[in-house]
Amino acid sequence: MKKKAKETQCVHYFGEKPYESQGINTPVEPASAFKYGEGMVNVYPRYFNTYNQKVINSQLASLEGGEDCLIFGSGMAAITTALFSLLNSGDHAVFYNELYGGTFNLLSSEFEKKGISFTLVNKQTKDAFEKAIQSNTKVLYFESPTNPLLSVVDIKLMVDIAKANGLTTLIDNTFASPINQNPIEFGVDIVLHSGTKYLGGHSDLSFGAIVSSNEIIKSIHSTAINLGGSLNPFDCYLIERSIKTLDVRVKRHNENALALAEFLDAHDKVKKVYYPGLVDHDKHEIAKSQMKGFGGMLSFELATQNQEDVNQFVDSLQLVCKALSLGGVESTICSPALTSHIKMTKQEREAIGVTDGLLRLSVGIENINDLKADFENALKVI
Ligand SMILES: *Cc1c(COP(=O)(O)O)cnc(C)c1O
Repeated sequence: MKKKAKETQCVHYFGEKPYESQGINTPVEPASAFKYGEGMVNVYPRYFNTYNQKVINSQLASLEGGEDCLIFGSGMAAITTALFSLLNSGDHAVFYNELYGGTFNLLSSEFEKKGISFTLVNKQTKDAFEKAIQSNTKVLYFESPTNPLLSVVDIKLMVDIAKANGLTTLIDNTFASPINQNPIEFGVDIVLHSGTKYLGGHSDLSFGAIVSSNEIIKSIHSTAINLGGSLNPFDCYLIERSIKTLDVRVKRHNENALALAEFLDAHDKVKKVYYPGLVDHDKHEIAKSQMKGFGGMLSFELATQNQEDVNQFVDSLQLVCKALSLGGVESTICSPALTSHIKMTKQEREAIGVTDGLLRLSVGIENINDLKADFENALKVI
Protein backbone atom coordinates (compact mmCIF):
# COMPACT_ATOMS: atom_id res chain seq x y z
CA MET A 1 0.00 0.00 0.00
CA LYS A 2 1.28 3.47 -0.93
CA LYS A 3 2.31 5.46 2.13
CA LYS A 4 -0.60 7.69 3.12
CA ALA A 5 -0.49 11.43 3.77
CA LYS A 6 0.15 12.59 7.33
CA GLU A 7 -3.47 13.64 7.93
CA THR A 8 -4.50 10.04 7.20
CA GLN A 9 -1.62 8.49 9.12
CA CYS A 10 -2.66 10.43 12.23
CA VAL A 11 -6.19 9.05 12.11
CA HIS A 12 -5.57 5.46 10.97
CA TYR A 13 -3.10 2.87 12.15
CA PHE A 14 -1.37 1.05 9.28
CA GLY A 15 1.12 -1.03 11.25
CA GLU A 16 1.02 -4.66 12.22
CA LYS A 17 -1.67 -5.85 14.61
CA PRO A 18 -0.81 -8.79 16.86
CA TYR A 19 -4.47 -9.77 17.16
CA GLU A 20 -7.79 -8.85 15.67
CA SER A 21 -10.41 -6.92 17.55
CA GLN A 22 -13.78 -5.71 16.37
CA GLY A 23 -13.23 -2.34 17.97
CA ILE A 24 -11.84 0.29 15.61
CA ASN A 25 -9.39 1.51 18.28
CA THR A 26 -6.50 -0.43 19.79
CA PRO A 27 -7.53 -2.44 22.87
CA VAL A 28 -5.74 -1.32 26.05
CA GLU A 29 -3.86 -4.23 27.57
CA PRO A 30 -2.82 -3.51 31.16
CA ALA A 31 -0.65 -6.60 31.58
CA SER A 32 2.81 -6.85 33.13
CA ALA A 33 2.87 -10.65 32.91
CA PHE A 34 2.67 -12.33 29.49
CA LYS A 35 2.55 -15.96 28.46
CA TYR A 36 5.72 -17.42 27.00
CA GLY A 37 6.59 -20.54 25.07
CA GLU A 38 7.99 -21.91 21.89
CA GLY A 39 7.76 -19.50 18.96
CA MET A 40 6.54 -16.66 21.21
CA VAL A 41 8.29 -13.34 21.80
CA ASN A 42 9.12 -12.44 25.36
CA VAL A 43 6.75 -9.51 25.93
CA TYR A 44 7.23 -7.18 28.89
CA PRO A 45 6.56 -3.42 29.35
CA ARG A 46 10.21 -2.60 30.09
CA TYR A 47 11.25 -4.41 26.91
CA PHE A 48 9.32 -1.71 25.01
CA ASN A 49 7.41 -4.38 23.09
CA THR A 50 3.82 -4.49 24.37
CA TYR A 51 1.07 -4.10 21.82
CA ASN A 52 0.10 -0.65 23.07
CA GLN A 53 3.71 0.59 22.95
CA LYS A 54 4.29 -0.88 19.49
CA VAL A 55 1.29 0.85 17.96
CA ILE A 56 2.69 4.26 19.01
CA ASN A 57 6.22 3.31 17.95
CA SER A 58 5.02 2.43 14.49
CA GLN A 59 2.82 5.51 14.10
CA LEU A 60 5.46 8.02 15.29
CA ALA A 61 8.20 6.38 13.20
CA SER A 62 6.02 6.72 10.15
CA LEU A 63 5.05 10.36 10.87
CA GLU A 64 8.73 11.30 11.26
CA GLY A 65 9.84 9.34 8.19
CA GLY A 66 11.97 7.01 10.34
CA GLU A 67 11.99 3.21 10.48
CA ASP A 68 11.42 2.63 14.18
CA CYS A 69 10.69 4.41 17.44
CA LEU A 70 10.87 3.90 21.19
CA ILE A 71 8.59 5.73 23.63
CA PHE A 72 9.45 6.68 27.20
CA GLY A 73 7.86 8.04 30.37
CA SER A 74 9.17 11.58 29.66
CA GLY A 75 11.07 13.60 27.09
CA MET A 76 14.12 13.61 29.37
CA ALA A 77 14.03 9.79 29.62
CA ALA A 78 14.22 9.64 25.80
CA ILE A 79 17.04 12.20 25.64
CA THR A 80 19.05 10.58 28.45
CA THR A 81 18.64 7.09 27.01
CA ALA A 82 19.71 8.19 23.52
CA LEU A 83 22.77 10.09 24.77
CA PHE A 84 23.93 7.47 27.27
CA SER A 85 23.52 4.78 24.66
CA LEU A 86 25.80 6.64 22.22
CA LEU A 87 28.36 8.09 24.66
CA ASN A 88 30.82 6.17 26.80
CA SER A 89 33.48 7.21 29.24
CA GLY A 90 36.23 9.05 27.32
CA ASP A 91 33.86 10.28 24.60
CA HIS A 92 33.12 13.88 23.72
CA ALA A 93 29.91 15.49 22.43
CA VAL A 94 29.19 18.80 20.69
CA PHE A 95 25.97 20.71 21.43
CA TYR A 96 24.53 23.85 19.87
CA ASN A 97 24.18 25.93 23.03
CA GLU A 98 20.52 26.99 22.82
CA LEU A 99 19.23 24.01 24.76
CA TYR A 100 16.16 23.11 26.77
CA GLY A 101 16.95 23.71 30.47
CA GLY A 102 16.55 20.04 31.44
CA THR A 103 18.98 18.96 28.73
CA PHE A 104 21.48 21.59 29.83
CA ASN A 105 21.18 20.33 33.43
CA LEU A 106 21.76 16.75 32.26
CA LEU A 107 25.05 17.75 30.63
CA SER A 108 26.25 19.98 33.40
CA SER A 109 25.39 17.67 36.28
CA GLU A 110 25.75 14.10 34.92
CA PHE A 111 28.26 14.01 32.07
CA GLU A 112 31.43 14.70 34.00
CA LYS A 113 30.58 12.00 36.57
CA LYS A 114 30.34 9.52 33.69
CA GLY A 115 33.67 10.62 32.17
CA ILE A 116 31.96 12.22 29.17
CA SER A 117 33.11 15.67 28.05
CA PHE A 118 31.24 18.17 25.90
CA THR A 119 31.56 21.53 24.15
CA LEU A 120 28.77 24.07 23.73
CA VAL A 121 28.97 25.95 20.44
CA ASN A 122 27.35 29.39 20.38
CA LYS A 123 27.76 30.29 16.72
CA GLN A 124 26.08 28.62 13.78
CA THR A 125 29.08 28.45 11.49
CA LYS A 126 30.97 25.52 10.05
CA ASP A 127 34.12 27.00 11.51
CA ALA A 128 32.77 27.22 15.07
CA PHE A 129 31.60 23.59 14.98
CA GLU A 130 34.77 22.23 13.40
CA LYS A 131 36.82 23.97 16.09
CA ALA A 132 34.75 22.19 18.76
CA ILE A 133 35.08 18.72 17.22
CA GLN A 134 37.85 16.54 18.70
CA SER A 135 39.25 13.14 17.80
CA ASN A 136 36.99 11.54 20.46
CA THR A 137 33.80 13.43 19.46
CA LYS A 138 30.90 11.07 18.80
CA VAL A 139 27.74 13.13 18.55
CA LEU A 140 26.42 16.48 17.37
CA TYR A 141 23.23 17.54 19.17
CA PHE A 142 20.92 20.50 18.53
CA GLU A 143 17.34 21.77 18.80
CA SER A 144 15.32 23.73 16.25
CA PRO A 145 13.42 25.95 16.77
CA THR A 146 14.99 26.70 20.14
CA ASN A 147 13.61 27.66 23.51
CA PRO A 148 12.86 30.44 24.43
CA LEU A 149 14.06 32.68 21.57
CA LEU A 150 12.85 30.60 18.62
CA SER A 151 16.18 30.56 16.81
CA VAL A 152 16.32 28.25 13.84
CA VAL A 153 19.28 25.92 13.33
CA ASP A 154 20.24 25.03 9.76
CA ILE A 155 19.65 21.26 9.73
CA LYS A 156 21.52 20.68 6.44
CA LEU A 157 24.58 22.49 7.77
CA MET A 158 24.58 20.35 10.94
CA VAL A 159 24.24 17.14 8.90
CA ASP A 160 27.07 18.16 6.54
CA ILE A 161 29.42 18.93 9.42
CA ALA A 162 28.52 15.69 11.21
CA LYS A 163 28.90 13.53 8.07
CA ALA A 164 32.32 15.02 7.26
CA ASN A 165 33.47 14.16 10.79
CA GLY A 166 31.76 10.79 11.28
CA LEU A 167 29.40 12.00 14.04
CA THR A 168 25.89 10.85 14.89
CA THR A 169 23.37 13.72 14.72
CA LEU A 170 20.51 14.17 17.20
CA ILE A 171 17.81 16.81 17.03
CA ASP A 172 15.24 17.70 19.66
CA ASN A 173 12.23 18.25 17.37
CA THR A 174 9.75 19.05 20.16
CA PHE A 175 8.93 22.64 19.18
CA ALA A 176 8.31 21.80 15.51
CA SER A 177 6.40 18.49 15.92
CA PRO A 178 6.48 15.85 13.15
CA ILE A 179 3.81 17.78 11.25
CA ASN A 180 6.04 20.83 10.72
CA GLN A 181 9.51 19.35 10.45
CA ASN A 182 10.95 15.93 9.57
CA PRO A 183 14.71 16.10 10.12
CA ILE A 184 15.35 12.51 8.96
CA GLU A 185 14.51 13.72 5.42
CA PHE A 186 17.55 16.01 5.72
CA GLY A 187 19.84 13.23 6.87
CA VAL A 188 19.59 13.58 10.68
CA ASP A 189 20.19 10.24 12.41
CA ILE A 190 18.03 10.54 15.54
CA VAL A 191 14.91 12.62 16.24
CA LEU A 192 13.89 13.22 19.85
CA HIS A 193 10.56 14.46 21.20
CA SER A 194 9.11 15.57 24.45
CA GLY A 195 5.68 14.12 23.66
CA THR A 196 4.47 15.96 26.75
CA LYS A 197 4.08 18.97 24.45
CA TYR A 198 2.49 18.85 20.95
CA LEU A 199 2.23 15.08 20.53
CA GLY A 200 0.16 14.81 23.72
CA GLY A 201 -1.33 18.24 23.11
CA HIS A 202 -3.80 18.43 25.99
CA SER A 203 -1.49 19.28 28.93
CA ASP A 204 -2.36 15.99 30.63
CA LEU A 205 0.37 13.52 29.61
CA SER A 206 4.10 13.04 30.03
CA PHE A 207 6.11 11.03 27.50
CA GLY A 208 9.09 11.08 25.18
CA ALA A 209 10.13 9.47 21.90
CA ILE A 210 13.23 8.49 19.93
CA VAL A 211 12.78 7.98 16.18
CA SER A 212 15.55 6.61 13.96
CA SER A 213 16.61 3.77 11.66
CA ASN A 214 16.06 0.12 12.59
CA GLU A 215 19.78 -0.27 13.19
CA ILE A 216 20.16 2.71 15.56
CA ILE A 217 16.95 1.92 17.44
CA LYS A 218 18.17 -1.64 17.91
CA SER A 219 21.39 -0.38 19.49
CA ILE A 220 19.56 2.11 21.75
CA HIS A 221 16.98 -0.55 22.72
CA SER A 222 19.39 -2.53 24.91
CA THR A 223 20.39 0.61 26.85
CA ALA A 224 16.70 1.54 27.11
CA ILE A 225 15.89 -1.82 28.71
CA ASN A 226 18.65 -1.29 31.27
CA LEU A 227 17.67 2.30 32.07
CA GLY A 228 14.02 1.27 32.27
CA GLY A 229 12.14 4.44 31.29
CA SER A 230 9.20 2.65 29.63
CA LEU A 231 5.60 3.82 29.40
CA ASN A 232 2.34 2.28 30.66
CA PRO A 233 -0.58 1.15 28.45
CA PHE A 234 -3.03 3.78 29.71
CA ASP A 235 -0.76 6.61 28.61
CA CYS A 236 -0.20 4.78 25.32
CA TYR A 237 -3.94 4.83 24.80
CA LEU A 238 -4.07 8.58 25.47
CA ILE A 239 -1.19 9.16 23.04
CA GLU A 240 -2.99 7.19 20.36
CA ARG A 241 -6.06 9.34 20.93
CA SER A 242 -3.97 12.54 20.84
CA ILE A 243 -2.22 11.62 17.59
CA LYS A 244 -5.55 11.30 15.79
CA THR A 245 -5.90 15.09 16.00
CA LEU A 246 -2.19 16.01 15.81
CA ASP A 247 -2.32 17.27 12.24
CA VAL A 248 -5.42 19.46 12.71
CA ARG A 249 -4.16 20.78 16.02
CA VAL A 250 -0.70 21.69 14.75
CA LYS A 251 -2.09 23.40 11.65
CA ARG A 252 -4.31 25.60 13.85
CA HIS A 253 -1.38 26.29 16.22
CA ASN A 254 0.64 27.40 13.17
CA GLU A 255 -2.12 29.67 11.85
CA ASN A 256 -2.87 31.28 15.20
CA ALA A 257 0.79 31.80 16.09
CA LEU A 258 1.57 33.49 12.77
CA ALA A 259 -1.46 35.78 13.08
CA LEU A 260 -0.58 36.68 16.70
CA ALA A 261 3.08 37.22 15.84
CA GLU A 262 2.08 39.70 13.13
CA PHE A 263 -0.42 41.40 15.45
CA LEU A 264 2.11 41.79 18.28
CA ASP A 265 4.88 42.84 15.87
CA ALA A 266 2.73 45.76 14.71
CA HIS A 267 1.81 46.86 18.27
CA ASP A 268 3.62 49.90 19.66
CA LYS A 269 3.83 48.47 23.20
CA VAL A 270 5.75 45.45 21.91
CA LYS A 271 9.43 45.91 21.18
CA LYS A 272 10.32 42.68 19.42
CA VAL A 273 8.67 39.43 18.36
CA TYR A 274 10.61 36.20 17.89
CA TYR A 275 8.80 33.90 15.46
CA PRO A 276 10.42 31.99 12.55
CA GLY A 277 7.36 32.66 10.38
CA LEU A 278 7.92 36.43 10.37
CA VAL A 279 9.74 37.58 7.23
CA ASP A 280 12.13 39.70 9.30
CA HIS A 281 13.22 36.74 11.51
CA ASP A 282 16.96 36.39 10.83
CA LYS A 283 16.61 32.70 9.88
CA HIS A 284 13.26 32.95 8.08
CA GLU A 285 14.64 31.64 4.78
CA ILE A 286 16.23 28.62 6.47
CA ALA A 287 13.02 28.00 8.42
CA LYS A 288 11.07 28.09 5.13
CA SER A 289 13.44 25.58 3.57
CA GLN A 290 13.15 23.01 6.36
CA MET A 291 9.73 23.55 7.98
CA LYS A 292 6.24 22.96 6.57
CA GLY A 293 4.73 25.31 9.17
CA PHE A 294 6.39 27.57 11.73
CA GLY A 295 4.84 26.13 14.89
CA GLY A 296 2.78 27.41 17.78
CA MET A 297 5.57 28.90 19.91
CA LEU A 298 6.58 32.56 19.89
CA SER A 299 8.34 34.93 22.23
CA PHE A 300 8.06 38.69 22.49
CA GLU A 301 9.58 41.51 24.39
CA LEU A 302 7.40 44.25 25.78
CA ALA A 303 8.56 47.81 25.29
CA THR A 304 8.66 48.17 29.07
CA GLN A 305 11.35 46.34 31.04
CA ASN A 306 9.73 47.21 34.35
CA GLN A 307 9.03 43.89 36.09
CA GLU A 308 5.86 45.22 37.74
CA ASP A 309 4.42 46.28 34.39
CA VAL A 310 5.34 42.91 32.87
CA ASN A 311 3.61 41.08 35.73
CA GLN A 312 0.59 43.32 35.47
CA PHE A 313 0.33 42.66 31.75
CA VAL A 314 0.49 38.89 32.24
CA ASP A 315 -2.04 38.99 35.07
CA SER A 316 -4.42 41.08 32.94
CA LEU A 317 -4.71 38.36 30.31
CA GLN A 318 -8.00 36.55 30.84
CA LEU A 319 -8.00 33.84 28.21
CA VAL A 320 -4.27 33.15 28.09
CA CYS A 321 -3.23 31.28 31.21
CA LYS A 322 0.00 31.93 33.09
CA ALA A 323 1.52 28.45 33.10
CA LEU A 324 4.67 26.45 32.50
CA SER A 325 5.08 23.80 29.82
CA LEU A 326 3.70 24.24 26.30
CA GLY A 327 2.06 22.65 23.30
CA GLY A 328 -1.45 22.27 24.72
CA VAL A 329 -4.69 23.25 22.98
CA GLU A 330 -5.01 26.15 25.43
CA SER A 331 -2.81 29.25 25.11
CA THR A 332 -0.30 29.67 27.92
CA ILE A 333 2.30 32.32 28.69
CA CYS A 334 5.36 32.43 30.92
CA SER A 335 8.26 34.70 31.80
CA PRO A 336 11.56 32.84 31.19
CA ALA A 337 13.36 35.30 33.53
CA LEU A 338 11.10 34.20 36.40
CA THR A 339 10.92 30.50 35.49
CA SER A 340 13.33 28.51 33.27
CA HIS A 341 16.18 31.05 33.60
CA ILE A 342 15.67 32.12 37.22
CA LYS A 343 18.99 30.60 38.35
CA MET A 344 21.00 32.92 36.07
CA THR A 345 22.01 36.43 37.07
CA LYS A 346 20.29 39.31 35.28
CA GLN A 347 23.54 39.94 33.38
CA GLU A 348 23.90 36.32 32.26
CA ARG A 349 20.29 36.28 31.14
CA GLU A 350 20.56 39.50 29.19
CA ALA A 351 23.69 38.28 27.43
CA ILE A 352 21.59 35.54 25.80
CA GLY A 353 18.57 37.77 25.12
CA VAL A 354 16.41 36.70 28.06
CA THR A 355 15.41 40.13 29.37
CA ASP A 356 12.90 40.83 32.16
CA GLY A 357 10.40 41.94 29.52
CA LEU A 358 10.64 38.73 27.49
CA LEU A 359 7.54 36.52 27.46
CA ARG A 360 7.17 33.08 25.91
CA LEU A 361 3.81 32.24 24.47
CA SER A 362 2.44 28.82 23.56
CA VAL A 363 -0.37 29.73 21.19
CA GLY A 364 -3.41 27.48 21.53
CA ILE A 365 -6.20 26.63 19.13
CA GLU A 366 -8.78 29.16 20.37
CA ASN A 367 -10.43 31.64 18.02
CA ILE A 368 -7.80 34.09 16.81
CA ASN A 369 -9.97 37.18 17.34
CA ASP A 370 -10.57 36.21 20.96
CA LEU A 371 -6.83 35.81 21.44
CA LYS A 372 -6.03 39.15 19.81
CA ALA A 373 -8.70 40.89 21.93
CA ASP A 374 -7.19 39.39 25.09
CA PHE A 375 -3.75 40.78 24.20
CA GLU A 376 -5.17 44.13 23.09
CA ASN A 377 -6.89 44.55 26.47
CA ALA A 378 -3.89 43.48 28.53
CA LEU A 379 -1.57 45.79 26.55
CA LYS A 380 -3.92 48.71 27.34
CA VAL A 381 -3.29 48.17 31.06
CA ILE A 382 0.42 48.95 30.83
C1 LIG B 1 9.77 19.83 27.72
C2 LIG B 1 10.92 19.63 26.85
C3 LIG B 1 11.83 18.59 27.06
C4 LIG B 1 11.73 17.62 28.22
O1 LIG B 1 10.56 16.86 28.17
P1 LIG B 1 9.84 16.24 29.47
O2 LIG B 1 8.68 15.53 28.89
O3 LIG B 1 9.49 17.39 30.36
O4 LIG B 1 10.82 15.35 30.12
C5 LIG B 1 12.87 18.44 26.17
N1 LIG B 1 13.06 19.30 25.15
C6 LIG B 1 12.21 20.33 24.92
C7 LIG B 1 12.47 21.24 23.76
C8 LIG B 1 11.12 20.54 25.75
O5 LIG B 1 10.30 21.57 25.53
